[in-house]
Amino acid sequence: MEAENIKPWLFRVQPYQGESLSYFLGRFRRANDLTPTGLGKAAEVGGAIARWEKFRFNPPPSRQQLEALAKVVRLDADRLAQMLPPAGVGMKLEPIRLCAACYVESPCHKIEWQLKITQECDRHKLSLLSECPNCGARFKIPAAWVDGWCQRCFLSFADMVKYQKSYR
Ligand SMILES: [Zn+2]
Ligand SMILES: [Zn+2]
Repeated sequence: MEAENIKPWLFRVQPYQGESLSYFLGRFRRANDLTPTGLGKAAEVGGAIARWEKFRFNPPPSRQQLEALAKVVRLDADRLAQMLPPAGVGMKLEPIRLCAACYVESPCHKIEWQLKITQECDRHKLSLLSECPNCGARFKIPAAWVDGWCQRCFLSFADMVKYQKSYR
């Protein structure tokens, strides 16, 4: 079947406020049982999906690529652009960071946590976690966050809130 014919049957996934592209792509793929390669084919962006899920935005997604992806996920290209770091703002690929208090309120990975200028969660005045506070495991790329707990020791993200240092 042509990719053109598949698109109308794909499930829509509503983005969360502040959600990162990696997390959104993972959710969209799982809702539609697509691999990164499969989504790349449907959106005609080649191997870009796997790179974007790892926050490899060098070169950044072009307007044309965002518009092609937008058609498949049925969102505005502008809405997708909000899932990227703002133009000119540097980001950290690693470590993947987490404000567990934010996650409890809205279960997603936020793009602002990966910006170089972000030192803490402004909303909660809490330090960001760069690893599981219980076992030290690094967080997986957000596209692979399925369960909301540490993949090694199973501490839930909700239970990690008490380990975040307060800046209040
Ligand atoms: Zn927060
Ligand atoms: Zn752990």
